[in-house]
Amino acid sequence: MLARIIIGLGITVVFFTIAGRRFYWLSKLIRSGQPAPRRWQGFRQVSETEVVEVAGQKKLLKWTVPGLAHFFTMWGFTLLMTTILEAYGSLFDRDFNIPLIGRDNWLGFIEDFFATAVLVSLVVFTIIRIKNAPSRKERESRFYGSHLGAAWAVLFMISMVIVTLLLYRGAQIDTGHFPFTRNAGFTSPAPGPSAHQLMSSASSWAFASKIVAGWLAPLGVGVNSVLEAVFLLLNISVIAGFLVFVAYSKHLHIFLAPINVGVSRRPRALGGLDKTPDMDMENVTEDTVFGAGKMEDFTWKQMLDFSTCTECGRCQSVCPAWTTGKPLSPKLLIMGLRDNMFASADRLLSGGSNTDVATLVPTTIDPDVLWSCTTCGSCVEQCPVDIEHVDAIIDMRRFEVMMESRFPTEAALLLRNMENQGDPWGLGSSQRTKWLDALDFEVPIIDGPIPEDIEYLYWVGCAGSLDERGRKQAVSTARMLHRAGVSFGVLGSRESCTGDPARRMGNEYLFQEMAKANIATLNEVGAKKIVASCPHCFNTMKNEYPGLGGDFEVIHHAQLLSHLVATGKLVPGVAYEGTVTYHDPCYLGRHNRVFDEPRNVLDAIPGVTTVEMGRCREKGFCCGAGGARMWMEETIGKRVNMDRTNEALNTGADIISTACPFCMIMLDDAVKANGRDEEVSVMDISQVFERSLQS
Ligand code: SF4
Ligand code: SF4
Repeated sequence: MLARIIIGLGITVVFFTIAGRRFYWLSKLIRSGQPAPRRWQGFRQVSETEVVEVAGQKKLLKWTVPGLAHFFTMWGFTLLMTTILEAYGSLFDRDFNIPLIGRDNWLGFIEDFFATAVLVSLVVFTIIRIKNAPSRKERESRFYGSHLGAAWAVLFMISMVIVTLLLYRGAQIDTGHFPFTRNAGFTSPAPGPSAHQLMSSASSWAFASKIVAGWLAPLGVGVNSVLEAVFLLLNISVIAGFLVFVAYSKHLHIFLAPINVGVSRRPRALGGLDKTPDMDMENVTEDTVFGAGKMEDFTWKQMLDFSTCTECGRCQSVCPAWTTGKPLSPKLLIMGLRDNMFASADRLLSGGSNTDVATLVPTTIDPDVLWSCTTCGSCVEQCPVDIEHVDAIIDMRRFEVMMESRFPTEAALLLRNMENQGDPWGLGSSQRTKWLDALDFEVPIIDGPIPEDIEYLYWVGCAGSLDERGRKQAVSTARMLHRAGVSFGVLGSRESCTGDPARRMGNEYLFQEMAKANIATLNEVGAKKIVASCPHCFNTMKNEYPGLGGDFEVIHHAQLLSHLVATGKLVPGVAYEGTVTYHDPCYLGRHNRVFDEPRNVLDAIPGVTTVEMGRCREKGFCCGAGGARMWMEETIGKRVNMDRTNEALNTGADIISTACPFCMIMLDDAVKANGRDEEVSVMDISQVFERSLQS
């Protein structure tokens, strides 16, 4: 007895000390990051998040089979804490049981049920890993680039925890020291019941342990006594060893995920960008760093993100950049930053100088990786541990653009146009009212306080005002609003780009300049209700302008049209019959959760059959235009717009509809490149609606 106490406690003390030191070091490392404001969202919000995402495994369960396997493994580990308590108790007293509940059959059942469930889940994980092995599927595998050896080691260690648990419980049954045995506490050896007799008196609720006891019973009580001690010590050793392994591997997420999820942005790290650095040049000193160029520029939340990644590859498998052959994988990006963080740990913890340290781009993150991102948000949406990839990417772009003046050459023209002409194409404000010529009614151009009888300010956006295809959307939207009796006006030449492409490119300074100018104009005319046609304008004005003093009620035209249809103010015609598929613009759908309204508008049209693409709603696939990619060359891999358009064409629809002028342009280009523009049209939902009215 003394020997097992000494061995059991000795192993525990050694392994727990190693793991504890590592966790303490990690916490210091993460806390060395920059402040991350607004991370504590109140007890109620955090509790809700923990219940839904950690306990309920909401995100993981979206992937049904691996989600269920993870659900049972996570809950198995949690509930099997009782067996760890029993194991340590048994070191001191073979007949130990947990006070009050220790002999209840339901506890024996729960323990055995979850031990079995974890074993089954491990088999499922093994099959998934073999089926998706990168050696078979290469880049298509979500595990491509993950640390595969560590993953297999973890599966092995978890299975050893369960196997040794069931073995020592089986031996306990055969020696009469199992908590769920009638008259437990019988002292062997003979004269006394045999191992078979002891086994049959054990509760059948602990079904798995009893099966193992049946296998061991022929060995007799004496041998089982030895096995009981050996497997008990092995179980404790594997558990303590697993703790050390977790502390040094990607399985850190077991402990870090609940923390990371608790301090993540709510309801999700999409929509507006997180940080709004103070771009007031009066506060800038020679030490000011814009964005993140070296590890110390990241916040503690970002460092926690890097440490929490499980390398599951869900983000990688949905990334439009990765799946079309670009070098950007959000998983590999986070893993690269984590490696850099650990490599920089001594400097970060000692506060040493970083003057001679290479910048993250290009040493850790290749420029092609950084500039491939469309900021579509699929990675953030899928990540089960709430890592905020887009914020990290934009922070690195900020550093590249504002500190180093390094960015794709073609983007220079975009920035210059925005700066000088107020729009990405450089066409100038005088062109902004040209689209109005197509209307046969007057739209007031607001040049002073908005008259009381005008309800909405229609924010047309650069594409709606200046691009030929975008203008068609603006014209149809205006006609539909007019038809429904909605009073609206436009700013005309006083409207300017919201600054979204500059912000997503990393030029925070230009964004803030443009945003502040727009906010001043909007405040000057007294704008209260704004309807925007472009999801990028909508997102920026709704989610980012408030941080700069612009508080307006902003809706997207899909929302307004849906409301007008629902209230009977806008009645569809019957002139169109056909099949329509709807492409979710990332900044309307995933970033702002406007999924139903555009579909409601289409569904209201008699004769329209709607078909969904496989990747729709939250899983909608990007058109390739976001993150200022619209104005950059796409020279690596397949074109994102071709990939998406092929998916749309495969539905057999004769109209590909959307609710974003940028998506329209990208999809239309791809339909033409496919030579399908005679049979298939790309249209805004307002155009589809209008088509139903044509006589
Ligand atoms: S935002 Fe989209 S493009 Fe960028 S890394 Fe995430 S999934 Fe890939
Ligand atoms: S970032 Fe999230 S989704 Fe991507 S591999 Fe890591 S844990 Fe998985």
